[in-house]
Amino acid sequence: MLGTGTAWPVRGQACAGIYIYAAGQHWLFDAGPGTLQRLLALGVTHGDLDRIFLTHFHPDHCAELVPLLFAMHLPDPARTKPLTVTGPQGMRRVYRRLNAAFSGWLAPRGYRLTLREVGDAAQRLGTCRVVSRRMPHGPPAVGFRVECGGRSVAYSGDTAEGPGVVELGRNADVLILECSAPDAHPVAGHLTPSACGRIAAAAGCRRLVLTHRAPSVQEGLARRGVRTQYAGPLVFARDLQALRLGSS
Ligand SMILES: [Zn+2]
Ligand SMILES: [Zn+2]
Repeated sequence: MLGTGTAWPVRGQACAGIYIYAAGQHWLFDAGPGTLQRLLALGVTHGDLDRIFLTHFHPDHCAELVPLLFAMHLPDPARTKPLTVTGPQGMRRVYRRLNAAFSGWLAPRGYRLTLREVGDAAQRLGTCRVVSRRMPHGPPAVGFRVECGGRSVAYSGDTAEGPGVVELGRNADVLILECSAPDAHPVAGHLTPSACGRIAAAAGCRRLVLTHRAPSVQEGLARRGVRTQYAGPLVFARDLQALRLGSS
């Protein structure tokens, strides 16, 4: 877990970002402000990244794309490893506009950049399968699910409650849900602790992880909110917390 915060700046919480090492590759899911420094703290550099998956184009989920692509543009040593950036509808337009705003300094130099737009889809990447599913949020948004070696982890990105996120997390070993608003003050297009609990119970996930929490989401209340709906293992995630899947 690179960043467990929201757009609201909080000391100790970077914005949305999850790092997954899978199939021998370095994958970044969301690139919110602060996540690049969190990656470095793990010993992973911008040069290591093979794939970036973006859930949607709110800045707290994607603004770090600018310093990431700028860093990849730099020589000495020049990047040669290809990079694929996958996002929902609008991915190519967002890239084009960002690159134009920064006078071409985000363009790939010496490496191949592939931009992919996905909705409800699945792709095989090496020994893994990555599933994307549209999420109801506001702008086009997707959640992602990674399946490798019989293990699975699903990440909602930002979403309202609905059948899609339950399907995404169906029997997942780890279901990572945004939990950006407290039950006392729900926000349209987002989840609360009790909604997260309902989704986890309906999905039958083996572990629920709460991330993307605003400062108003207090741990005790959030745990109680989840517990009204879901009795399984629950993680109130912190930045740089590692989640291990299985025994490997
Ligand atoms: Zn959002
Ligand atoms: Zn968000």
